[in-house]
Amino acid sequence: MRTGILLEEAQQILLAKVHSLQTSCVTLFEAVGRILSKDIQAATDLPPFNRSPLDGYALQARDTAEADTLSPVSLAVIEEVPAGYMPRQKVTAGTAIKIMTGAPIPEGADVVIKYEDVEWEQNTVKLFHKLKAGSNIVLAGEDVAKGEIIAKQGSRLTPPLVGVLAAQGFAYVPVVRKPKVAILSTGDEVIDPSEALHPGKIYNSNMHSLCASCIALGADPLPMGIVPDNKQLIAEKISHALGQADIVITTGGVSVGDYDAVPDALKELSADLLFWKIEMKPGSPVVAAVHNNKLIIGLSGNPAAALITFDLVVVPLIKKMMGQDRHLPLTVPVVLANGFYKSSPQRRFLRAQLYRKNRTVYAKLIGEQGNGALKSMIDCNALIDVNAGSGPMTAGEHGVALILDSSAEILSEEAIIKAQHQNVHLTTKYPTYGYCTRFLYEADSNVYSE
Ligand code: AMP
Ligand code: MG
Repeated sequence: MRTGILLEEAQQILLAKVHSLQTSCVTLFEAVGRILSKDIQAATDLPPFNRSPLDGYALQARDTAEADTLSPVSLAVIEEVPAGYMPRQKVTAGTAIKIMTGAPIPEGADVVIKYEDVEWEQNTVKLFHKLKAGSNIVLAGEDVAKGEIIAKQGSRLTPPLVGVLAAQGFAYVPVVRKPKVAILSTGDEVIDPSEALHPGKIYNSNMHSLCASCIALGADPLPMGIVPDNKQLIAEKISHALGQADIVITTGGVSVGDYDAVPDALKELSADLLFWKIEMKPGSPVVAAVHNNKLIIGLSGNPAAALITFDLVVVPLIKKMMGQDRHLPLTVPVVLANGFYKSSPQRRFLRAQLYRKNRTVYAKLIGEQGNGALKSMIDCNALIDVNAGSGPMTAGEHGVALILDSSAEILSEEAIIKAQHQNVHLTTKYPTYGYCTRFLYEADSNVYSE
């Protein structure tokens, strides 16, 4: 078994062991957050017919050639077309059809004028200025052209995409099955948050932070409860979890202490151990094994270490199983907003918050950086990647940050990739989502990027 390997090696070893899961069809109501298993091609033009974007009159522009405020042109109104109905008549010279927003443009008409700009009496309409052909007509296919690829296989279904699919008449969407991720907590000291806290015990935060991460990703967590530090009991529970899940994640008991029973439990199961320990801080004692073609990954019990290694090691696997097209965290060049005064004999990931100022992305260290400090994860949207052997770092130094999933998904990938090349200018398609504003706010002006 390999030990003390690079994070990138660990990611590659594990990614090679998982595959995209089977596909199924879900209703549009169940689609958000799921991953498309096929390219989606537009079945129809959107809008499907030329339509009016406002309430007004459809007519021929050339009839208005002589119109002005002093000598208005009068046209005969021959029909009224509400949305949802087809015009029965054609517009010819000297005539107009009253039309509502969303109604099809009648044959013969080449312009629509809004109610507010005309005078109307009985069956005539008076126009006071010359109109340009084509104004106020939404052309068929202007939004989506029949046959175009609306979304690619591997992309995540967002609320606007669900809307476009509905507008195309799709009632079901082909998606990849959600991976089932078993989460098992180990440790004699760990108790459920519903129990009374006794001396020496701590509440199980890992179960909840990791299950919540699965839900946020679009996977199905299977909470497997808490097992004491006993290799036999842990082995039994892992074996049970393997029967139900696509991948099994444990926390706690992976170091070299007397009570660290997870590696022994894996041996007890005759699982193939792939590696133990990754060169990184926090979270180095990750153990990985495979049993009956399913991965078991044991993470440190330290709450921040568990979350960070889950993000860096487990999330890429879940994404691959979900059929997502990108697995590994995106990186972005950053400038440190504040200093870090310890040296780093081992590669270190520092919790940070990114923000943009004058076209530069800054990484501000946040809160406690210790293995067990969980609160500083709340505002963390990126990890500064500090090379092994680095000394203390000062504000203004350049570095690289790994963008954590919550911000990466929400910030458009195109924008991050742009930012990966220097001369950073971050943009987003979805500026209204809660957490992305955290990433984008201008430090001193509070102006959001568009
Ligand atoms: P371990 O990885 O078992 O050495 O545990 C490292 C630290 O994380 C210890 O302080 C444990 O008490 C704590 N810990 C272990 N499991 C959990 C858990 N499920 N929730 C919160 N803290 C935990
Ligand atoms: Mg322990």
